[in-house]
Amino acid sequence: MAEEPTYDVVIIGGGAAGLAASIYSVRAMLKTLVIERQAIGGQILYTGEIENYPGFPEPIAGPDLAMLYEKQATRFGVEFVYDTITRLELDGPVKKLIGEEGEYTAKAVIITSGGEHNKLEVPGEDEFAGRGVSYCATCDGNFFRDQDVTVVGGGDAAMDEGLYLTRMASSVTVVHRREELRASKILQQRAFDNPKMSFVWNSAIKEIKGDGDVKSIVLENLKTGEISEQDTNGVFVYIGFHPINEFMIGAVDLDAAGHVVTDIQMNTSVPGVFAAGDVRTFSERQLANAVGDGVAAALSAYRYITEG
Ligand code: NAP
Repeated sequence: MAEEPTYDVVIIGGGAAGLAASIYSVRAMLKTLVIERQAIGGQILYTGEIENYPGFPEPIAGPDLAMLYEKQATRFGVEFVYDTITRLELDGPVKKLIGEEGEYTAKAVIITSGGEHNKLEVPGEDEFAGRGVSYCATCDGNFFRDQDVTVVGGGDAAMDEGLYLTRMASSVTVVHRREELRASKILQQRAFDNPKMSFVWNSAIKEIKGDGDVKSIVLENLKTGEISEQDTNGVFVYIGFHPINEFMIGAVDLDAAGHVVTDIQMNTSVPGVFAAGDVRTFSERQLANAVGDGVAAALSAYRYITEG
């Protein structure tokens, strides 16, 4: 006789996508476990104030919102465990998740492991995180009204977010390590045409300095070696984003950048396995999208379990 799984649904990741999925899953009377490796809440734990989440006319602190999600999930009976999943065995009707602390079995798995922004790894970056250093213009841009900000990177994200910042900041200086942008031509053109945007080419930030808040950056010209210091109120880092996917390599299909390939109903390449939020391909990387993805994944898991 086939082994009976312990859970109907196991969700990997306790961020917004995972918590939203858990609430829908448990309310569909599915025995639901959320496995989180660090802290319940995911990326919103690192967001000072959230001003763009519908339904909250006043800003809400990210950690406060995380607590509300957890409270709601717990009220309906979601179980939580802290563990780091290292491997997945997804063949067949019983899915097995192998963690550092234990093994878990489920009829369906929802992957919401999220991702991490690449960091500059320079002095001052961690010290001023949330006090001038940001990885999210949409979240934090409003705090830089009429101020001078710096965007690091030459890709689509740097241009997109840099252009967004021109709406509120006095000036946006893009620091890029080459003299050619990687971003799509249309975004490049918009950036070059915007009078608030300027470019520092062939340069890298060596240090972020301040006094409580960010005040300046130390730049190195990578061609001449010249070191200079430039005043700025904020540093927005857009040098790529990497999904947290080590544990699922070879188990589900990933795109070229390592995100889980899903369809619009969050089905992955493996029946009974779903993915939601920042870890999935084409994610908008917004809180509201992560929540919506999580809901869609839970409903798909419900259909998979009840309809086969
Ligand atoms: P990306 O395309 O990989 O660009 C990263 C940028 O950061 C590059 O210009 C790179 O420089 C620079 N960089 C990387 N490591 C660095 C370091 N250690 N120090 C300084 N600079 C560094 O990443 P992304 O902009 O986050 O975009 C990721 C994906 O999302 C892309 O496929 C992108 O098309 C997509 N996306 C699309 C849109 C849109 O269509 N509107 C918006 C956002 C993102 P080099 O150029 O020298 O390598």
